[in-house]
Amino acid sequence: MLIKCVILKVTSICNLSCKYCYVYNKTDKSYLNEPDIIDFVTVKQLLQKIEQYCKKNKLNSFLIIFHGGEPLIAGKSFYEEFIKLAEKIVISAKLYYSIQTNGTLLTETFCKLFKKHNIHVCISIDGNETASNNRIFKTTGHAAYNNIIAGYNIATKYVTPSVLSVINTSTDIDEYYTFFKDISVSYMDCLPPDSTYEKFDMNANQLGLWLIKLFDVWYFDKSKHKPRIRMFEDTINLFFGNENYAGGELFGRNFNGAIDIRTNGNIDIVDTLRICENNFLVGKYNIMNNELDDIIKEDIFYKFYNAHQDDVLCEKCRNCIVKDVCGGGLLTYRFSAKNSFNNPSVYCFDIFLLLMYIQNTLIEYTSPKLLQQVNLTKISMQDYIRTILY
Ligand code: SF4
Repeated sequence: MLIKCVILKVTSICNLSCKYCYVYNKTDKSYLNEPDIIDFVTVKQLLQKIEQYCKKNKLNSFLIIFHGGEPLIAGKSFYEEFIKLAEKIVISAKLYYSIQTNGTLLTETFCKLFKKHNIHVCISIDGNETASNNRIFKTTGHAAYNNIIAGYNIATKYVTPSVLSVINTSTDIDEYYTFFKDISVSYMDCLPPDSTYEKFDMNANQLGLWLIKLFDVWYFDKSKHKPRIRMFEDTINLFFGNENYAGGELFGRNFNGAIDIRTNGNIDIVDTLRICENNFLVGKYNIMNNELDDIIKEDIFYKFYNAHQDDVLCEKCRNCIVKDVCGGGLLTYRFSAKNSFNNPSVYCFDIFLLLMYIQNTLIEYTSPKLLQQVNLTKISMQDYIRTILY
């Protein structure tokens, strides 16, 4: 098992309190016992451990994602200092950086720094003002939309930010798509809200139909400046057998080689899994005493790493006709108190609908020559009924 990415919790706090947030507004409350901001003793130790790990495993690249809470709360000097230290300490591998921010604290100074150090900026934007109504300031409860868009506009002057959007299926699809086109988003990812069997988020009601309509609007948009949508690009690439293009926790058969480093230095599983149960984190490894990969001994890490492999997929997923593209979905979506992760995704029906629609559309609109190379055949709801319902 190889770790190729650290999600660095620069802060455990946030200036927003989005209603769907898995850190603050779901089951797990572990953030309450962690420092607000990671300190540099911990950062230095982390960088040394990354260097040792890359050297030992002959990795020539490694990804660090600055995350939170809201990572910009740490201030510009944190990132200046971090990069300076990293350049000194990590010499065996090239470090790639990305920052996941709510955008409200973005300034010209931050963006110049991110441009200078080639730090990819990803901003969470759910859509227009109405679609963003889950996003409010923590202290006042006021809507954060105007501040998010102001931050996004500043960022576009210096870098090409990508966008992460949490889906709310009550949003009108034409408005949603036009909004992202109007603000000239070049690359975006749409994520279903975090859900488990016990905690289904009603914002995802009829998700499959919503995604199909979005796919249609996007796929048949022949304009030059349409946004790239990762979920659709990944699934198309997977249908055409281009596995290298499709990564991430959501689709495909790749391994999930990411760990969290928390503000107290703990090395842990990725925190989207915190929605499953309180105290779901492993909590026993720390960067001051452990190696980066000590956590791979843990059963929960094994499940996360191999989430899309047959020995972790449930029986229905193993027999499913779209298994190689779906990969069983995000591990979190499979959790139930009764069966743990031994379930299909809570979005199984929605995913199947979407993948069936994409596959059948590709067959209809792809040249016969290309189709011959990939061996795609039409699928139907009968396949779902036969292989999944029974
Ligand atoms: S569509 Fe459903 S059964 Fe098929 S792989 Fe995905 S989650 Fe599993």
